Amino acid sequence: MRKISPEIITEKVKRLCFDAAYDLSPDVENALKRAMDREISVAGKEILRQILENCQIARNESVPICQDTGFAVFFIEIGDEVFVEGNITDAINKGVSQGYTDGYLRKSVLKDPVQGGNTGDNTPAICHFEFVPGDKIKITALPKGGGSENMSRIKMGKPAEGAEGIIDFVVETVSEAGPNPCPPIVVGVGIGGTFELCAKNAKKSLLRSLDEPNPDPFYREMEEKIFERVNNLGIGPQGLGGITTCLGVNIIAHPRHIASFPAAVNIECHAHRHKEIII
Ligand code: SF4
Repeated sequence: MRKISPEIITEKVKRLCFDAAYDLSPDVENALKRAMDREISVAGKEILRQILENCQIARNESVPICQDTGFAVFFIEIGDEVFVEGNITDAINKGVSQGYTDGYLRKSVLKDPVQGGNTGDNTPAICHFEFVPGDKIKITALPKGGGSENMSRIKMGKPAEGAEGIIDFVVETVSEAGPNPCPPIVVGVGIGGTFELCAKNAKKSLLRSLDEPNPDPFYREMEEKIFERVNNLGIGPQGLGGITTCLGVNIIAHPRHIASFPAAVNIECHAHRHKEIII
């Protein structure tokens, strides 16, 4: 059994908070470059140029890509041959506290959803744990801004609606969101499972690189159909019109109850910050 100290986890999470906020991942940057090359709207092309310039400045000067540095969301895979010598959730929260404080990242979390009061250090983090074989821990940070998160939707559909019903639901969700989630967006979709798992899978799907196609040909085709319809909406970069409303569509499907057909859409903005580390 491999032992890992909580201090190492805290240090790595702190670093992840900086890296995610300052350094846009290559898959997103490359997708933005490809979109700029093919965008036909003059305003849209210019917005994409400015977004790419902003990312470069953020990286070079170690400043956040966006003022909303998000709710600190983590997906954690823990190997079954690993023993953490302490409380892993506490270790992650300490890393978030240090990362958001030392990195001058905006603290956006309220102590109480109704009564308010800032927690002061952007904790608590939202942690999704999964147990996997092996002696490593993989931690992926997905800081999530409020503007795009607010445009997300879940629907408990009817099984008879089929793939076309889900595609319509996703496209309607993006259409209603319009410019609010700071397009070009990435569309995460969860299909099947239960109410809560479907929503979690919509978010988890955003972890898949934009360079990596869906391994399942059926869902790959669904993603392509949604991608085409969303980009035909004409919302465009920052809502100023154009053929680039989304950079990618990622689906995770899960077995479902015969009577249920849940689908969830988690919208991510162009500041699609995702960084991972393996300990
Ligand atoms: S939606 Fe994204 S780009 Fe827009 S303000 Fe929020 S974090 Fe920033």
